Amino acid sequence: MAKKPPTVDPLNAHLARLLERIGEVARALRWQQATGAGLSPLQIRILGFVCDHPNVPVRVARLADELQVTRPTVSDSVKLLVDRGLLARKPDPHDGRSHTLRLTAEGRRNLPVAEPFTEALAALPVQEREMLLLALMRMLASLLESGDVQVQRMCWTCAHYRGDRTGRHHCQLLATDLAVAELRTDCPEHEAAA
Ligand code: SF4
Repeated sequence: MAKKPPTVDPLNAHLARLLERIGEVARALRWQQATGAGLSPLQIRILGFVCDHPNVPVRVARLADELQVTRPTVSDSVKLLVDRGLLARKPDPHDGRSHTLRLTAEGRRNLPVAEPFTEALAALPVQEREMLLLALMRMLASLLESGDVQVQRMCWTCAHYRGDRTGRHHCQLLATDLAVAELRTDCPEHEAAA
């Protein structure tokens, strides 16, 4: 007898389609920003990542892991950004054969002025934005568990997090309670929980 296909919860199916649609809109908006600056969306993401991590050594391998693309693809984009003077390579003090990347003043000028959805989000009441943030963080944590996301430095997966993931959040390392808006998804102090 043929196996029955698994039943899909209609609400889950609806949400999954909606998230996919929102992802498509985000990609389209990124395209507009990127082509306006004569860059590709990946190059814009690379500039954004280097800009957001000024105190950590950023190399091609790390960019590939973080942005979930292959090293050769990142390498080609980085070369173009360096050739255009938007990124600069500097010798890696820990590895004489390697280089880390930093943003140049010209690179900073090419960063998008606003993230996609800024206006649409501002129209939501703060309570709804907080609920959305918590739900998305829980989804991201579960994607990390399933292996669909490779790198994440969020409070939910951190050894220093104490709380219930809902209304009570505390960071032991920073010795402070965290409001929902202060929860981090890319924390430089993150330490993976065992
Ligand atoms: S160290 Fe960072 S990621 Fe970890 S709980 Fe504190 S704020 Fe969150």
